[in-house]
Amino acid sequence: STQEKTLQICVVGSGPAGFYTAQHLLKHPQAHVDIYEKQPVPFGLVRFGVAPDHPEVKNVINTFTQTAHSGRCAFWGNVEVGRDVTVPELREAYHAVVLSYGAEDHRALEVPGEELPGVCSARAFVGWYNGLPENRELEPDLSCDTAVILGQGNVALDVARILLTPPEHLERTDITKAALGVLRQSRVKTVWLVGRRGPLQVAFTIKELREMIQLPGARPILDPADFLGLQDKIKEVPRPRKRLTELLLRTATEKPGPEEAARRASASRAWGLRFFRSPQQVLPSPDGRRAAGVRLAVTRLEGVGEATRAVPTGDMEDLPCGLVLSSVGYKSRPVDPSVPFDSKLGVIPNVEGRVMDVPGLYCSGWVKRGPTGVIATTMTDSFLTGQMLLQDLKAGLLPSGPRPGYAAIQALLSSRGLGPDAEVLGGGVGGPSLGPHSLGGGCSGRGEGGGVDSLPSASGVRPVSFSDWEKLDAEEVARGQRTGKPREKLVDPQEMLRLLGH
Ligand code: FAD
Repeated sequence: STQEKTLQICVVGSGPAGFYTAQHLLKHPQAHVDIYEKQPVPFGLVRFGVAPDHPEVKNVINTFTQTAHSGRCAFWGNVEVGRDVTVPELREAYHAVVLSYGAEDHRALEVPGEELPGVCSARAFVGWYNGLPENRELEPDLSCDTAVILGQGNVALDVARILLTPPEHLERTDITKAALGVLRQSRVKTVWLVGRRGPLQVAFTIKELREMIQLPGARPILDPADFLGLQDKIKEVPRPRKRLTELLLRTATEKPGPEEAARRASASRAWGLRFFRSPQQVLPSPDGRRAAGVRLAVTRLEGVGEATRAVPTGDMEDLPCGLVLSSVGYKSRPVDPSVPFDSKLGVIPNVEGRVMDVPGLYCSGWVKRGPTGVIATTMTDSFLTGQMLLQDLKAGLLPSGPRPGYAAIQALLSSRGLGPDAEVLGGGVGGPSLGPHSLGGGCSGRGEGGGVDSLPSASGVRPVSFSDWEKLDAEEVARGQRTGKPREKLVDPQEMLRLLGH
């Protein structure tokens, strides 16, 4: 029967890596792919990371939706692997398992004062304005004049741009109502983006920089001294880096034309890049109750090319601010004690997507290569993992004989709630960092809204299907229409499940 010939595969995570891996695997005519997702809604960072004012980036959702509509693909949201179901259980039920669960932890600054109210991760801030359930209560305090972002990548620029964009320009995006409300009251006028190294080492890309330079109502602050001698050096660097650096250089050193000069003169907000500065401490306010600045060590560069390192000169500088956002990178969490994990690199050790020493287990996306690269990079990488899996199948390296797939997992899930069981399943690897609600930050000093997402346990874990998601999607779009937005995101998982009658 076809049932017996079906190749049962599951993918953990429904971000770009999960969906692109599924898309590739479905090329095999016998493949059936189940995608498990811990959020009640799909698409990972396309929904919860990509900035609300970049709607065109989210068009990949159309491709993912097509994949989900395949008769051989199913989406199961509201199922957290490692908590509701274990990886060994999945491996038992499927011929192969692909881990595509991203990189959800942010790297800590590891400096004193990091825990002060007024400090939070850029990740949590992004989650907040994008409606990530666990960050919905962040409510950052934007009553200060100056914000400092530690990091000079695209996420740092996203955050700076959202902080400085006139709120009326965000009204027609899918930013959450709550975030828009807080941004309307914001008094932040200046945003500094601090980097340990120099203009040649920034991690953002030219499109994002250009957008920032042209941001309505804001002017750039760049110190020409940071760019001395750069003219000669850029001759040797690869073309994209060269163009990026030339744009920085021009902005820093050339006199703007009269129109641009007038625009800058009338701008009420400003942003600047602070180079050669490494954070040493978050400085407390006089009463010790919140962040009031950052102490930075002045650095200089040693070495050449990619190996260029920042070493402290011994000089220090204090930068006053009321809000500190750290944007120094992400890392993955271990998902299950049975899965090898490189905690130093924060990835699953693998060779081209095959998890080391575990036949039938694969990985793709950020959990495979680390948290860098855009959606297109993630696509290429996920197709490659899919290819390896299908090669292994051909070579007879996957288990033979039928596998029950979702039928077996469904039975497990309905017998499971989030009671003491969850502790037993999740315990034993990373302690608290493994917990489902450990993200967030203390921008507001009100805690992280932990525990709010616990779902009912009476009837076990109730997965959200793709057609369920389409009902939620329609509801979001309808709510958005009332205020001229593409959607008003639902941010409360309880409400989502209630709407679905779960
Ligand atoms: P993710 O997108 O994070 O997907 C992982 C999924 O796994 C999530 O849905 C998560 O909920 C789920 N998951 C986690 N743990 C579990 C579990 N235990 N059980 C079940 N499910 C789980 N790229 C661009 O090209 N353009 C942009 O404008 C852009 N903006 C970005 C903005 C931000 C703030 C960030 C952080 C990234 C941005 N990127 C952008 C990069 C892009 O988002 C990534 O390349 C891509 O999302 C990585 O895909 P992924 O599937 O590996 O991870």
